[in-house]
Amino acid sequence: MNRTGFYPGSFDPVTYGHLDIIARSARLVEKLVLGVGTHPGKQSLLSERTRVELLEQVTKPIAEHTGIKINVVTFADLAVDAARRAHAGLIIRGLRDASDFDYEVQMGQMNGALAPDIETVFLAASPATRMIASSLVKQITKMGGDITLFIPNEAQAAVAAAIKKS
Ligand code: ADP
Repeated sequence: MNRTGFYPGSFDPVTYGHLDIIARSARLVEKLVLGVGTHPGKQSLLSERTRVELLEQVTKPIAEHTGIKINVVTFADLAVDAARRAHAGLIIRGLRDASDFDYEVQMGQMNGALAPDIETVFLAASPATRMIASSLVKQITKMGGDITLFIPNEAQAAVAAAIKKS
């Protein structure tokens, strides 16, 4: 059985919600490839490189602790094609609420039609991190709020610097 997972997202910035999904994926996969989506039409606050570097830094302890291998790649095409390049048999996604559910299930089913050999697995968000959204973290930072509960320290500095520059 193929135990490589592909977890795609914007990770703009990576949050404790993403890290919760990543840490729990370690129970399902032997290797996890994190795919940073860099679609030209989708404006991001952090550069592709910053998002990759942050993910590498903050997931290192998870890889060490769980023993799974974690790689970070970028992709600008379909998630199923990026998953194939990563030799993944599973796509991992997180579900926070009903709106995530509707969107994610539809996308998972379309991906299933495009790539029947790749199974999408949904992990329900953990109660402690369920409310965290990258978009709200950016908004709170712009308005001078405290985001220490939501994203790792390394990411806080990067978000603050990027907002200052924008
Ligand atoms: P995308 O632009 O693909 O939605 P995100 O980085 O916002 O990228 O999210 C990537 C994945 O992580 C999605 O499946 C999303 O539902 C999930 N996710 C985001 N935040 C959380 C959270 N707080 N808890 C659980 N899953 C989450």
